[in-house]
This record gives sequence, structure tokens and C-alpha cells, in this order.
Amino acid sequence: MTNMNFDVITLFPNAFELIKSLGVITKAVEKDLINVNLYDLREYGEGSYRQVDDKPYGGGSGMVLKPEPIYKAHDSIKKLPKSKTLLMTPQGKVLKQNDFIRWSSFDQLIIICGQYEGFDERIRCLADEEISLGDYVLSGGEIPAISIINGLTRLIPGTLGDPKSLVDESHNSFLLEYPHYTRPIIFKGMQVPEILVSGNHKEIKLWREQKMLERTMDRRVDLISQEDYKKSPKSKRIKKDLNQLMKFRIGNGYDIHRLVEGRNLIIGGIKMQHPDNLGLDGHSDADVLTHSIMDALLGALSLGDIGKYFPPSDAKWKNADSLLLLSQVIELVRNQGWEVNNIDSVIVAERPKIKPYVELMKKNISNALQIDEKFIGIKSTTNEKLGPEGREEGISCHSVVLLEIKE
Ligand code: SAH
Repeated sequence: MTNMNFDVITLFPNAFELIKSLGVITKAVEKDLINVNLYDLREYGEGSYRQVDDKPYGGGSGMVLKPEPIYKAHDSIKKLPKSKTLLMTPQGKVLKQNDFIRWSSFDQLIIICGQYEGFDERIRCLADEEISLGDYVLSGGEIPAISIINGLTRLIPGTLGDPKSLVDESHNSFLLEYPHYTRPIIFKGMQVPEILVSGNHKEIKLWREQKMLERTMDRRVDLISQEDYKKSPKSKRIKKDLNQLMKFRIGNGYDIHRLVEGRNLIIGGIKMQHPDNLGLDGHSDADVLTHSIMDALLGALSLGDIGKYFPPSDAKWKNADSLLLLSQVIELVRNQGWEVNNIDSVIVAERPKIKPYVELMKKNISNALQIDEKFIGIKSTTNEKLGPEGREEGISCHSVVLLEIKE
């Protein structure tokens, strides 16, 4: 039984010879799964010259298809119960895989191909849908029509050898397909990923799902940001997977050190003078600003905190210059493929006044991280005499960083 009838109105029926040599479609025609009927527009032309086009009213270049022949051709086509008329035009809705799926339940698609400068505007009234092959202009609607016949036919059961091959395909689920490999295992030094020859089907399935996400993120992130996708039930699960591929990571860091006598007061690598000659106590130089930035950087990548990398139990870090430690942390971040987008810190200190030192602190942090000062925010506040900072028992600092994946 014929699954789909294509009735095509065209000035160039010969162009459709192509479907006789397109594998899957040719077989579908032979097996009578589809029927392609061509309506030569010329035969519906007017007068002894069979005129189908004319000059546009209002002037302008090129010729325009006249309405009467197309209406006549359309009228002559016997309409089946579930029938749709598609008009090929670069001004239409851009063709998507989902359209094929939608149309596959129809009995008949009537396809109107334009030519020349286009067609008389009144022809649009015949169309249930106006379809564009893409955002470019071709010379006629024949190639778009063949594309529709091709794309729809391969969805018809009995056309493809293995119907399962349709399931994971690009554009079926908003995601592009995973990469394929076949023999030989090494070709020009390029090896087939080991997992594909492992025989572990569960792992292969996971690998393929991951690759579909990566491909789509790399090449067509628009597919998964579109509204339809966001509404799809799959989107929640995929979003979860995508977290691993997220382009941004955020990190939060906090540090506080006691104010004591007999110690230097160093913040952001700047040695300051406290009115009561107090300084910050700690194993290293107790630079709260630099420490909180390091913790934010490590936190963004779930790498733990500075205690893990520079433990106070290790004599090596006694009175260490925290800016040097910061350079090591940023190296770790960069080695993992990330770059700092921006940093924002707030120092909580009752005294001394921090503001006059802020620009110098920014310079130091910018040097240690090798990023421009304009991506570093440093602010200060008192704690209104409240809490440990307010009673001048200590100075604290909060930092937030945003990391961006390196392209
Ligand atoms: N001047 C017209 C384009 C005419 S191209 C315009 O700017 O809209 C001639 C015919 O080729 C069109 O009528 C249409 O049937 C077909 N065509 C060209 N590009 C197409 C595309 N991207 N998708 C579908 N049909 C297209």
C-alpha cells in the first residue's frame, strides 16, 4: 500500500529524474511505498505559447509565475483525505526534521515549486504551509521539493534497512548524533576510540550520549536553547548532564584571621599600618583577601580549599607570601582548562581604612593572576562595631569568582 503521495507542480519535471538514482527513495518508489506524480506547469500555461510567467507590476527585474496556471494545476490534482499543500519559498518556515515527522501521517503532500523571481502573491492562498530550505535563495523550488521527498521517505517503515538507525539521529531529539567509526581500527594514525571496541554496551551507550551533548554544545548550542526543547520532558535530564559541560563555574571563598600584636598586617599583598599596631595572625602571612580568592577559585572547580594544598602543618608555608600561593592556584585552574571571568571581594575591617589601598591591592592580585585589573572588584566595609570584626578581634574577607571554560 502506498504510504505517501507526492504531487509536485513544477516547470522542470526533469529535475525529478534525480530521485530515480537516490537509493532509498528509488527503492521506495519501486516498492510502491511512495508515489511521485509530476505536474508540468507548462501544460497548464496560457495561450498557444503556454505562457506561465509575466513581468511584475510596478516594474523590477525578472519574471514572476502567473497565478492561473498554478491554480489550474492545483485544481487538477485529486485530493486525498489527509492532504497538505506546501509552497516552496525562501520566505517560509525553515524546514526541520520535526516537519517530516509531522507530515509522515499524511496521505498526500502537494508541493508547489516557484521559479525565476518568484510567484504572484495570490498563489500563497493555495498553501497550507510555506516552507524554506534555509536562509539562502535557490533558482527554483525543485531542490527543496526533492529534499522534502527524500527526508520524508526515509522515515517510512520499510525504506531503511535498519529502522533503529533513525532513533539517535541528529535533529530527532534536539541533539546532534555521536561520531561514527567503521573498519579499519587505525587509519592514517587516527584510532577508533577504545570504548567502541570494548564490547561494553552500557559504557558505549553512555559514551555516545555524552558525545551527543558535547557535539551539540560545540556546534549547535542554539538547538538546546530553543523554546521547544526547554519544554521537552528530556530537557531536565539533559540539563543535568550538561552541568559537566557548563561553560561557567562560580566559586565562593571566605577567610578570617585574628588581629594580634607583633604581626604584620598584610592584605592583598599590601603591608598596612594598624592604629594600634595590630597585625593578622596565621601560619602564612595571613592575607585574608588573597586566601578568600584562592578558596573561591578552588571552590569553583570543587577542588577543596587552600588547607588541602598549603597545609599549616607544613613548615614550608610558614610566613609564606600568599600572592605566590595564589599564582600556584591559578596555574592549577588554568591547567584544568578554565579562565577567570571576574572576581569580586569584600574586606570586613573596622580599622584601618582599607579604601586608600584598594588600587594597589588590585594591582597585586592582577599580577598574581595575570588578568586585567578591570575584572577584579575589591570593596571594604566596617562591621558597624558588631561581631569579631567590629570588636577588632579580627579581619575577614568574602570573595566570589566566575570561571569560564577556555575555548
Ligand atoms: N525573489 C524571491 C526568490 C525567488 S527564487 C524572494 O526573494 O523571495 C525562485 C524560487 O525558488 C522561489 O519562488 C522558490 O520556490 C524557490 N526557492 C529559492 N530559494 C528557496 C529556499 N531557500 N527554500 C525554498 N524554496 C526556495
